[in-house]
Amino acid sequence: MGPNRHECDAVTIVEELRRRVIDWEKKHWNPYPWRIERTPYKVLIAEILLKRTTRQAVLREYPKFIVKFPSPQELNNAPTEKIAEELKHLGLYRQRAEHLKALAEALVKAYGGNVPNSWDGLVKLPGVGPYIAGAVLSFGYGKPAPVIDSNVMRLLGRLTGLKLGKAEEYLQLLWRLVPEKDHEYFNYGLIDLGFSVCRYGQPKCTDCPLSDLCVTQTENKEPSKAECLKEVYHAIYSEKL
Ligand code: SF4
Repeated sequence: MGPNRHECDAVTIVEELRRRVIDWEKKHWNPYPWRIERTPYKVLIAEILLKRTTRQAVLREYPKFIVKFPSPQELNNAPTEKIAEELKHLGLYRQRAEHLKALAEALVKAYGGNVPNSWDGLVKLPGVGPYIAGAVLSFGYGKPAPVIDSNVMRLLGRLTGLKLGKAEEYLQLLWRLVPEKDHEYFNYGLIDLGFSVCRYGQPKCTDCPLSDLCVTQTENKEPSKAECLKEVYHAIYSEKL
C-alpha cells in the first residue's frame, strides 16, 4: 500500500522534521561552555578551535583561552607566539594562532572590534567559511541561519536521498529547513545527530528520531513512501514549495 496524503504532505514533513530534531536535541543537549555563554565572539573562537579537533580537547583548552583573550582587541594585541603558546595542547597551534591573529586584526580594523552580523561579512573574514558563519549567526546572534558541517551533510544526504555534492548545495537545502523559532536547537540537533547517530560508517537508525522520514531508511521497506519523501525533499531543494 502506498503512503497516504498526510504522510506525503510537504508542509507536514518539514514541520515534523523540525519538531523531532528540536525535541531530540532538547533531550540530548550537551552543556559545552561554548553552548552556554554564546556571544558572537565566543562562538567564533570556539568554532575555530573545534576545527579538526575533538570536543574533549577543546573542552580542556577553550575556557582558559577565552579568559586570556576575552575580546578581539586583546587577541589582536597579543603576539602570535603568545597565542600559539596558549594553543600548544590543541595541535596545529602555529597555523591556528596565525589564523586567529589575522582574524582579530580584521575584526579590529574593519569592524571596530565587533563580529559582523551578516553572512557576507562573516565569510569574508580570514579562516571563516560557511559553517562558522552559520554558527555565529544562529548561536551567537540568534538569527535563523544554516549550520552545515560534514556530519550534517552526511545526515542530509542519507535523509533526503538527494545526490548533492557540494556544501553550497546542502546549504541551499538547509536554508529552507531551518526554522525561525528554536533554530539553535535545530542546528545543534542536526550537528549532534550527524555526529552520534547518523555517524560515519554504520548509522544507528534504530536510535534516530527521523527514521520514518528518511529516504535511505525507508527505500527498501516502503519504496513508495521513500519515493514520495524524495520528491518532497527535491521540491524543497529546488524551491518549488
Ligand atoms: S534513519 Fe539512519 S540513515 Fe536516516 S537520517 Fe537517521 S541515522 Fe541517518
